[in-house]
Amino acid sequence: MIDFEITEKEGRARKGMMRVNEKETETPFFMPVATRGSVRTLSNEEAHEIGFDVLIANAYHLLLKPGSDVIKDAGGIHRYINWPGIIFTDSGGFQMIRAGFDQDIMEEGVRFRSEVDGSTIKMTPEENIELQIDLGADVSMCLDHCPPYPAERDLLVKSVELTTRWAERCKRMGHDTFCISQGGIVDELRTRSCKELVDIGFQGYAIGGLSIGEPKEDMYRMVDICDKVYPADRPRYLMGLGSPLDILESIERGVDIFDSAYPTRNARHGTIMTWEGKISIDKGRYRKDHGPLDDSCGCPVCENYSRSFVSHLSRSRELSALRFATIHNLWFMNELMEDAKTAIANGSLRELKSEFKRHYG
Ligand SMILES: [Zn+2]
Repeated sequence: MIDFEITEKEGRARKGMMRVNEKETETPFFMPVATRGSVRTLSNEEAHEIGFDVLIANAYHLLLKPGSDVIKDAGGIHRYINWPGIIFTDSGGFQMIRAGFDQDIMEEGVRFRSEVDGSTIKMTPEENIELQIDLGADVSMCLDHCPPYPAERDLLVKSVELTTRWAERCKRMGHDTFCISQGGIVDELRTRSCKELVDIGFQGYAIGGLSIGEPKEDMYRMVDICDKVYPADRPRYLMGLGSPLDILESIERGVDIFDSAYPTRNARHGTIMTWEGKISIDKGRYRKDHGPLDDSCGCPVCENYSRSFVSHLSRSRELSALRFATIHNLWFMNELMEDAKTAIANGSLRELKSEFKRHYG
């Protein structure tokens, strides 16, 4: 059972507490992506020390490698990857359907070719939840059908219908599961998807099929629809959204949970997030810049090293540059979420957002 309690509100924005399996975290929160059990370039202790309570791993990737039998045998994913906090697992539906295996989606489930050994793997929604339970996830995600953007109306309708029927089957597995709405950016279909899922009834409600190339205003309109239809007393999770301004806009629209590779992937490309906007650290202009990556950052990298040094490491293709940038960017994301929670409590979320709009708009 996922226990969720809203403690403060500002407009539609919510601050609260989520508890599952005797672990808890404040909301809204951001989950670093640990697809294969590890946040790229960091140890899980480092990710935890930065301040994160929750990670999201990917059931599909862990099934292929090392195999769910290995993780089950090790005593579950928490022990296997040394993460004491909450672990979400994504069903991997997005990857299975997206990676070119979409010819063979059937009522009973998906069939896809393993990228490891080329074998054909068939998976029903029930087997997918069972996999996430086997891994030892605290929170599982329904297998859903996410069409690409843009998609024909027929495909969007099919995806909504299939997603609802699969969600019903996932619910019967009795795990702490979030459902995922689809419907692209068509108001009527998104509303229908949300309503059908609410009728089934879930512990948490995710918003899927967004942030895949559609215009921002369409994305926010869909978030508004979900906010209106989803039950107010359950956590909402907008999947795959990670830019600071998008997160603040969505918090303002009643979203509680986020995950994205945005800060970590940017870090590996030398893009540093600062309170004054993004900078590209591998530019020669930082050669003699002996200040920290960000003047207002308290992360271990900013405390100990200069832009000049990190820039030098980055231009020299030293692996430590990837680590330093990742630590800093995740620290920044964690600070952003802390500031958002404080702002909701103080009624100043709009001010925080306009501050970000100046640098990330
Ligand atoms: Zn820093």
